[in-house]
Amino acid sequence: MLYISTRGGMPPKKFSRILLGGLAPDGGLTLPETYPRFDDAKLQELRDMDYPELAFEILSGFADDIPAADLRAIIGRTYTAQSFQNDEITPLKTLEPGLHILGLSNGPTLAFKDIALQLLGNLFEYALDKNGEQLNILGATSGDTGPSAEYAMRGKRGIRVFMLSPHGKMSPFQTAQMFSLHDPNIFNIAIRGVFDDCQDIIKAVSNDYAFKQKYRIGTVNSINWARIAAQTVYYFKGYFAATRSNTEQVSFAVPSGNFGNICAGHVARMMGLPIKKLILATNENDVLDEFFRTGHYRPRTTAETVQTSSPSMDISKASNFERFIFDLTGRDAAKVKELWQAVDEGGAFDLADTPLWERIEDFGLVSGTSSHADRIATIRRVHDRYGLVIDPHTADGVKAGLEHRDASVPLICLETALPVKFSASIVEAIGHEPERPAGYENIEEKAQRYVVMDADAGAVKAFIVEQAGPPQTAAAI
Ligand SMILES: *Cc1c(COP(=O)(O)O)cnc(C)c1O
Repeated sequence: MLYISTRGGMPPKKFSRILLGGLAPDGGLTLPETYPRFDDAKLQELRDMDYPELAFEILSGFADDIPAADLRAIIGRTYTAQSFQNDEITPLKTLEPGLHILGLSNGPTLAFKDIALQLLGNLFEYALDKNGEQLNILGATSGDTGPSAEYAMRGKRGIRVFMLSPHGKMSPFQTAQMFSLHDPNIFNIAIRGVFDDCQDIIKAVSNDYAFKQKYRIGTVNSINWARIAAQTVYYFKGYFAATRSNTEQVSFAVPSGNFGNICAGHVARMMGLPIKKLILATNENDVLDEFFRTGHYRPRTTAETVQTSSPSMDISKASNFERFIFDLTGRDAAKVKELWQAVDEGGAFDLADTPLWERIEDFGLVSGTSSHADRIATIRRVHDRYGLVIDPHTADGVKAGLEHRDASVPLICLETALPVKFSASIVEAIGHEPERPAGYENIEEKAQRYVVMDADAGAVKAFIVEQAGPPQTAAAI
């Protein structure tokens, strides 16, 4: 399997060559040249597999330059009952016949991002170890990605994590999740400023190409292809759990931000999984809902992006969306390049009244949006009717899902976080605090390890130099 760029400017590369990278050199995103196709016989073979076996069957198609025994071992130590609290890894909860929640949030940080990032941590360690290389991961978080990335990379050989967060602006729970890690390869840097200041520092460091090369600075952002590949697995797992035969179709409702999660659903559908609809849910930041209703893609500015009670979906620009549009155009890289030229210059594009828009139905994507009041009402309704407490992001998915539900097609709503992370909204909806999973009871009282710094890229660079030791001479990633 070889990988190409959505903008056509990258010579085809093996999986291991794109694993550690971010954007393709031409500014596009990497994708396999063709998707593996699973026929009915193959689906039948996969149907009764446990999560690690299923993950191996799917991921070995994407990562075919990693020896099978090595990949099996990496997957085996990632998807354990110990890390994900149960053997199913992603258990299906049935609310009523034909309506399900797929539990994706039982990993160490209680959010679905763990499913991909836990694998990424082991894949990165393996790849770096093989070449005797090191990587310094620099990231910024306003709450969700930071803990997932740190729990994925803690204790990994050859990897250090430098995670910037706005000092005193995350919830006490999220702060405790990150700052209570005492692993020597994890560095929490609390910046005196807001999240945008943290992102500006990342941009400044990334623009210093020489520094980036010298100190092997990398990221774990959501455009990484291995993250998407890892997420396709639970679409298969959920499908098999909700159906008895491969002649049945299901629909998925997906709380969306950067279009990473639902992109994995799209890939699973392209691989032959019988998905009727992929129902994309947004919150008040409805840039993607606007596109799927009208054909008009208009990324917003940071100033236009509002803070909501489903904060992990507060995005102004959906970084993985380009992968979907590449497939929509029939993999026309020149067309994608033309469309994103406008986007990269701060503009928009409109596919309405073009032949491309007529094809959109073939891809099964539909959308819906929620307000804060919708979210609260949905949490209350699911609690009253089914006795289950869901988090605000999952609630956005359930709301859009029910709007697009077909009577004869099972609906699987993806649970993207546990309610304990967003207790204020839960109290507002049902009048009491959500349950805390075992091990998280007193997390806020644990000793914390972090440094506080001014919003100054130079100071952050100096800190990295001090911690990372002498620069590396290995080849660039
Ligand atoms: C990241 C995140 C999302 C959005 O997922 P994308 O892959 O960016 O679309 C939704 N809900 C939660 C809780 C998240 O952490």
